[in-house]
Amino acid sequence: MDGTAALPAPVERFMFRGREFFVKRDELIDPLLSGNKYRKLYSLMQMPAERYRRLTSYGGTQSNAMLSIAALCRQKGWQFHYTAKALPGRLKEHPTGNFKLAIELGMQLHEVSPERYHQAISDLQDSQEESELLVPQGGADPLAARGINILAEEITSWQRQMGMASLNVVTPSGTGTTAYYLACALPDLNILTTPVVGDSDYLHLQMRALGDIPDNLCIIESSKKQHFAKPYPELLSIWRELKAAGIAFDLIYGAKMWHTLMQHPALLEGPTLYIHSGGLIGNETMLNRYFHKGLI
Ligand SMILES: *Cc1c(COP(=O)(O)O)cnc(C)c1O
Repeated sequence: MDGTAALPAPVERFMFRGREFFVKRDELIDPLLSGNKYRKLYSLMQMPAERYRRLTSYGGTQSNAMLSIAALCRQKGWQFHYTAKALPGRLKEHPTGNFKLAIELGMQLHEVSPERYHQAISDLQDSQEESELLVPQGGADPLAARGINILAEEITSWQRQMGMASLNVVTPSGTGTTAYYLACALPDLNILTTPVVGDSDYLHLQMRALGDIPDNLCIIESSKKQHFAKPYPELLSIWRELKAAGIAFDLIYGAKMWHTLMQHPALLEGPTLYIHSGGLIGNETMLNRYFHKGLI
C-alpha cells in the first residue's frame, strides 16, 4: 500500500440468480485498506506525514476500520492508539484476523472494562492535541466525504459511458457514512442500503448526526432479524452462492446486504451497481465462528 492505488476501481458485470448486476470492485484497491475504508480514509492518506504524530480511535477488536487505520498509520509513520473493551482471553492468547494484523502493524491497544468504556471514549474526545487526531468509531466523520465524493465521480463517469439513464447504487451500512455521503453526492441516483449493525432507527440516528438525510437514500430491511456479526445459515448460504457466481464478498456486511436486497426485487428496476465495500480479511474470523457453531 502506497496511497497511489490504481483508481478508478473497475466495474464488472455480475450475473446472480439470473439477474444482471454490476459490481464496483473497491475491494481490489488495496488488501489492507480496501473498499469503503480506503474511500473514507482517503483525505487522511493525502495529508503530509508531518501533519500528525498520532491517531486514536476506538471500537470493536475485529473491526475493518481498525485494521485500515492501522495500515494507514504504518504507512505514514503515525502512532495508532486504539481503545476497546477488555478482550476475550482466547483472542489475547491467540490473536486472529483483523486484530492480529493490526497489532503486527503497530497498533497500541488500550483495554478498558465495559463499565468504563463510555467514559474512556469521552475522555479521549477532550484530550486531543494539535498533532493528534481522533477518528470516531468506523471512520464516521465528515473527513470521509472527500474520498466518497471521488467514488461518486467514478460512478457518474461509468454511468455516462454506459449510457444509463437511471441507476440503483447498493451498499451496506454500518455507521451509514458511506451510503449517506454517496446519496448526497449523487442526488439523481437511487441509493439503497440496509442496516447491518443495528436497526433502521439506529441507522437513521447515525446518519442524522452527519446532516439531513437526502430523499434519494432508501433504507431497506430484512424480514429476518439478525444480530451484528453473528453466524446465520442463510447468510453463509448466500455468501457461498455469491462466491460461486464469481465474487467473494465479506460475510458480515456483504452477505447481509445481498440477502436483504434479494427480498426486494421490485426495487431492482433498471440497472443496479453494487459497491463492494471490502472487508475480506475478516472472513477468516467469521468462517471460524461458523465452524465452531457447527454450521460448516
Ligand atoms: C465498514 C464497512 C461497512 C460500513 O460502512 P459505513 O460507512 O460505516 O456504513 C460496510 N461494509 C464493509 C465490508 C465494511 O468494512
